[in-house]
Amino acid sequence: MRRIGIMGGSFNPVHIGHLMLSEWARSEAGLDEVWLIPAGMPYMKASGQLLPGRERLHMTELAIAENTGLRCLDIEISRAGDTYSYETLEQLNRDYPECEFFFILGADCLFAMENWRHPERLFASCTVIAASRGDIPMDRLQEKRVDLEHRYGGKIELLPFLNLSISSTIIRERIRKGFSVRYMVPDKVLEYMEEKGFYREKEK
Ligand code: ATP
Ligand code: MG
Repeated sequence: MRRIGIMGGSFNPVHIGHLMLSEWARSEAGLDEVWLIPAGMPYMKASGQLLPGRERLHMTELAIAENTGLRCLDIEISRAGDTYSYETLEQLNRDYPECEFFFILGADCLFAMENWRHPERLFASCTVIAASRGDIPMDRLQEKRVDLEHRYGGKIELLPFLNLSISSTIIRERIRKGFSVRYMVPDKVLEYMEEKGFYREKEK
């Protein structure tokens, strides 16, 4: 079986936190590849400033172009309507029976998962790898892991990660205020965002 990591998210825009976590998880969890899957219209988020899927996908492709261990998939943005992670993972299992899937997420998402649609189906389709993020202490992650595993019968691996307080929200805010985001995103992504004038307007 090939071991494939899946990173979902809005990638609005993709940033070094996403890239570093993908690469970190790939090597630490012994994954053959990590596939980044930009979301269509995430139902949990207000849609102000959410760029069209094809633009977020394009920036993600620019960001990973030189890393053969990372791929980018358009399966969520090409699907109409809301996107649910369990549907994506079930589809991946059907389409790639030779692969075993590991769903990589940051700690914030571990705490949000119980409100996602059909967490039990997501857990049945993959192993979850939850990376530390921000200042949520490891023992709280450990507690949440036990709780979720009991409730949904899934498997969660905790992945200690660097404490990187970068987020797409911070990047959008900085651009709106006219501050530099150089080095927070790969140069190619920066150039594309500048050329297109992304995120300059106030969030709705
Ligand atoms: P936003 O601020 O718009 O919510 P974001 O930076 O949180 O953007 P998302 O696209 O929402 O990025 O996140 C995709 C995935 O990457 C999520 O699982 C999230 O937890 C994880 N992630 C993003 N940034 C980090 C980070 N700095 N450290 C650890 N995980 C991260
Ligand atoms: Mg987020």
